[in-house]
Amino acid sequence: MADANAIDGLIAEVGTDIVKRADEVDFARHTRDFTTTAPEGLELLGAAYPRTTEDVSRVLAYCNAHGIPVQPQGGMTGLAGGGVPQAPCLILSLERMRAIEEVDTAAASITAQAGVPLEMIQNAADDAGFLFPLDLGGRGTAQIAGNASTNAGGNRVLRYGMMRDLVLGVEAVLADGTIISSLNKMLKNNAGYDIKQLFLGTEGTLGVITRLVVRMFPKPLTVCTGLVAVDDYLGVLDLLNRCKAGLGGTLSAFEAMWPEFYHLGTVALDRRPPVEEAYGIYVLVEMMGSDPDNDQERFESVIAGAMDDGVVRDAIISKSAKDTADLWAIRDCPGEFIRAGWWPQIAFDVSIPVGEIGAFITECEARVKARWPGIATMYFGHVADSNLHLSIRHDEGLFDVHELDEEVYATVGKFKGSISAEHGIGTTKRPYLHHSRSEAELALMRRLKAALDPNGTLNPGKVI
Ligand SMILES: Cc1cc2nc3c(=O)[nH]c(=O)nc-3n(C[C@H](O)[C@H](O)[C@H](O)COP(=O)(O)OP(=O)(O)OC[C@H]3O[C@@H](n4cnc5c(N)ncnc54)[C@H](O)[C@@H]3O)c2cc1C
Repeated sequence: MADANAIDGLIAEVGTDIVKRADEVDFARHTRDFTTTAPEGLELLGAAYPRTTEDVSRVLAYCNAHGIPVQPQGGMTGLAGGGVPQAPCLILSLERMRAIEEVDTAAASITAQAGVPLEMIQNAADDAGFLFPLDLGGRGTAQIAGNASTNAGGNRVLRYGMMRDLVLGVEAVLADGTIISSLNKMLKNNAGYDIKQLFLGTEGTLGVITRLVVRMFPKPLTVCTGLVAVDDYLGVLDLLNRCKAGLGGTLSAFEAMWPEFYHLGTVALDRRPPVEEAYGIYVLVEMMGSDPDNDQERFESVIAGAMDDGVVRDAIISKSAKDTADLWAIRDCPGEFIRAGWWPQIAFDVSIPVGEIGAFITECEARVKARWPGIATMYFGHVADSNLHLSIRHDEGLFDVHELDEEVYATVGKFKGSISAEHGIGTTKRPYLHHSRSEAELALMRRLKAALDPNGTLNPGKVI
């Protein structure tokens, strides 16, 4: 077991500029993310703040040889505890590696160091006349390698995919210090195994990402937004197919909100509901196009057709940037849950095959309400991506959180869904991974981990 003295040797190897002793480290900053805090009484061994890939390599090689567990950290905006240490370890923070190395407009790519904040990547793409489409609430703090390590999603996955779809190349350092530089810039590259996938969505358990190549896209010239009401989930599926057929690849968001959520995002926050509170489900639809003369008409004709056929019962179409912001404010109300009185809450981020989401909600409601009468639930999500969010108000003494998790995740498993749509496994979902993965899949994950990190140095106690 490594102790604080083990850090002395590391400091002798790489210097005090890179490695700090525990008493020089801002403990609070390195021991919690947005949902999880390190166990009480945890002591850190120290922290490393590398400036280059070679620094990362030297730190990892030393730690691997001397049995020092390493906790990779980005911006600590994660929502699954993946960056939060569980036992004494060395923190490896990528925050000093924040250079954008190249913006290549021919390849439509950006090469950046791991610690560049997401917002800096978005701005660099914008400055070059392009769009970097990943966007999420933690954009100012979350780092691009943190986004890659969690395979982050967000609101525009339907159009542009998740982070896995936005990464062309990766440079990473293995637990033993080996540098794997796979900074590919090409869309097509079938030269053997796609090595970058080992590091995307694996939450720092198989290697530490030090640099990445990400894709840029043409900026959309138009954005059309509407909020529509339908009777039930069959109406949602009908509308989704109409939007896909009528708007094609320009459909960029399709956000469903069930009545409890819609009420919270409007009335409970002193906003007038844009369509009456009288329907089964509300959907925020958005398209991003490139034809300013025709896009709005095309968008409105798809919604009008659905209304004529009785699928859409009521609708409002945005006529200005303010209208659009007001409609999105309803969907973005989770940031205001405290003000709306929906707090504390337990949040679930799951995936269910799109056609089954309605049936899942019916069964989930029946199961949790039969077991805990009086429980308050709310549903919303990026349903076109299969992603459903369930929020349960945490009323004191009503339920045991682990038992509630087990009930919900067992229901997810029954529907062949995923217990993590976009936030990762970290520590919070680790006990439930078996609901979404077979024994053979789990065994393969363990074999991969053992092959790449035989001493279990990297991010111990996470994912698998
Ligand atoms: C307000 C808010 C809104 C959000 N909205 C969304 C959303 O809509 N969609 C979505 O998908 N996510 C969302 N998230 C979560 C999002 O996934 C994370 O915020 C982000 O992707 C993680 O980046 P980070 O730099 O903060 O990583 P951290 O939290 O620091 O780390 C996350 C994981 O990645 C590992 N890691 C970090 N850097 C590296 C590296 N260089 N090499 C290897 N492993 C590394 C860590 O060990 C940890 O396991 C949201 C978070 C917040 C706070």
